[in-house]
Amino acid sequence: MHIDRRRFVQGALAASCALAPPLRAEGPKASGVYIGDMHSHLFFFGMGASPEQKPLGPTMAAGNATLVAWSLVGDVPWLRITGKGIKQKGSPNRGEAGKWFEDDVARIKQHLDGQKLKLVLTPEDVDRALAGEPHVVLTVEGATFVEDGIAPLAHAYEQGVRSVQLVHYIDNPLGDFQTEPPQHDGLTELGREVIAECNRLGILVDLAHCTDKAARHALDVAAQPVIWSHSSVTRTRTPNWKMPVWQARQLSYDTAKLIADKGGVVGVWPMRADVGGTPETYAARVWELGEWLGDDHVAFGTDMNAVSRPAIASYADLQKVVRFWQKAGFPAESIEKIAIGNFARVLKQAMGARQA
Ligand SMILES: [Zn+2]
Repeated sequence: MHIDRRRFVQGALAASCALAPPLRAEGPKASGVYIGDMHSHLFFFGMGASPEQKPLGPTMAAGNATLVAWSLVGDVPWLRITGKGIKQKGSPNRGEAGKWFEDDVARIKQHLDGQKLKLVLTPEDVDRALAGEPHVVLTVEGATFVEDGIAPLAHAYEQGVRSVQLVHYIDNPLGDFQTEPPQHDGLTELGREVIAECNRLGILVDLAHCTDKAARHALDVAAQPVIWSHSSVTRTRTPNWKMPVWQARQLSYDTAKLIADKGGVVGVWPMRADVGGTPETYAARVWELGEWLGDDHVAFGTDMNAVSRPAIASYADLQKVVRFWQKAGFPAESIEKIAIGNFARVLKQAMGARQA
């Protein structure tokens, strides 16, 4: 971190003496690069402003964010916030998680309609987002609505869901998650069926929160590239549930490499304990991961409104990140890929593979 940060600062100094890259706009949007985000929230408990205080349209527009994943949290009613992070407080009765999903999808769509924001439903919609028309990708964090069979996934697709994260914070028949002792020795048979069904439907699979073993099982069976939408990569620790939450939630370098080898993308969160407290420290950390995995395999994953005191508090802050990279003289093509292009690519690939 220190070495790369120093190099980052040196790069910025060197670039200030060289020709600056051309800018296409002024003000907070001055980077001229559109922003993608693989993971954000508007309705989540305990944190962030209410949707009325912080509606999504102006939030996205303030940073030229045009491809934003809005993650419906599939297990919220069964969670509580504790001093040791988010814990399970109960279990859904049969059908309750499906009902929660329906109700939250309705709330989300109502908000999007009010904001005149469109959902990404086809690969062409992703192209429109890349061309500057704001779009939201409906995603689900924790496929809690999958109880004992894959049928709810086709229904979720019909409702507009285009990415599914297998596990979150409650016991889940799909596989193990990072913050509790493993129960399933990785991914279950149902978890494998869910991945095959997502591939068939054209839903992008998200492995965030999976244990290392579950992630590797998923990579063994996935027919399309996958994402790890939010956290970061460690080269020095082997994450496990006994660690502080932010360390337990990290991805091992070897598994991150496997995700990249399969064409996938890892999103970096703005967790202060991990990436530092400012857009500049976040910029350094994201770029560092690009050097580790290759610039085709890294993206933003802000976890907006679910991280306390984040290094990135708005999409305008992500524009600052892009400007830091531009001032450092980093290649425009690499910047565009990390800022939005990589998320767009894997999403289009997963959606385009639909066989239904
Ligand atoms: Zn999460």
